[in-house]
Amino acid sequence: MYELPPPRSRPQQAAPSPVIASGEIRPGAGGARLRGVTAPTSVNDNPEAQPDAKLRELNSQPSAPGPREEVYCTKVGATRPGEMYIIGAHMDGIGWGEAADDDGSGTALVMELARVLNSADVRTERSIRFALWNNEETGLNGSRAYVAQRAALQGKEDPLGSGRYPEPRWLGMIQHDMVLFDHGMPRADGTLSPEQRPEADVNIEFQSASKFAEQALKLAFFFRDANEKYATDYPAAVGHHMTNTDSTPFMDFAPAISVREHERGMQIGAGWNPHWHQPTDRYATYSDKDFRLGLNAAQTTLAAIAQLAGVALNR
Ligand SMILES: [Zn+2]
Repeated sequence: MYELPPPRSRPQQAAPSPVIASGEIRPGAGGARLRGVTAPTSVNDNPEAQPDAKLRELNSQPSAPGPREEVYCTKVGATRPGEMYIIGAHMDGIGWGEAADDDGSGTALVMELARVLNSADVRTERSIRFALWNNEETGLNGSRAYVAQRAALQGKEDPLGSGRYPEPRWLGMIQHDMVLFDHGMPRADGTLSPEQRPEADVNIEFQSASKFAEQALKLAFFFRDANEKYATDYPAAVGHHMTNTDSTPFMDFAPAISVREHERGMQIGAGWNPHWHQPTDRYATYSDKDFRLGLNAAQTTLAAIAQLAGVALNR
């Protein structure tokens, strides 16, 4: 449980000139630099922009300060239960849509990996925690509270001699936030390709300014290697400006990375996803190719975690 601060009003971003001039340094979030053509981004807070009455109703609950809850389950390691990888996504959304990509896609990925790895015939050396954070959209409040409440509990056997670790030591945290949409850079006229771009990829990011940057870099490339070996359709790329998602509160406590459809600072922040925080972020908006990109993100994380946590099948 944690207290939610009063909602902060999101300043409307003034529309930058779309085309970035040669040599112009335009900073993005997380230390990124914007390039090429950008498109304005915003958070839709107009209910009328959602034509679906049922969906309007579903989104209508006002966000008020007060206690919040989030969900996690744990696959307890058989031989090293006091060590753990955390796989996360956020279950809240904004913009008066269905939060299908942001972050229903990450939530579905985490739940599917929990289903697969919690199968009775699966054994892991180390523990794996599957977490669905709340209030990511209001300032990473759920993941911040988790870190604040549980960082000091890491690796402590409780009760002593029991072999039980309510909070195993964090070996790594992997956040999944928006894993479907990669249609390329906005065009000069502000439109985006209705088709997924042929170079679509899975973007793995760590934060080079974090305390665990070196270990997080290694973790990120371990994920890229796992993608190369096991993902069926799309490659992965590694970036060093991880930001604005629930891995951020963990990055100075453990190696932390995010797995997304785009780089958050240079691409999502530059308008590469027109459905981001909009009423159009709905299941029906995305194509089979978009969902296949999401599947490849799931394959990438499953393959990497299976090796890192020492997964084996009970024969
Ligand atoms: Zn998100």
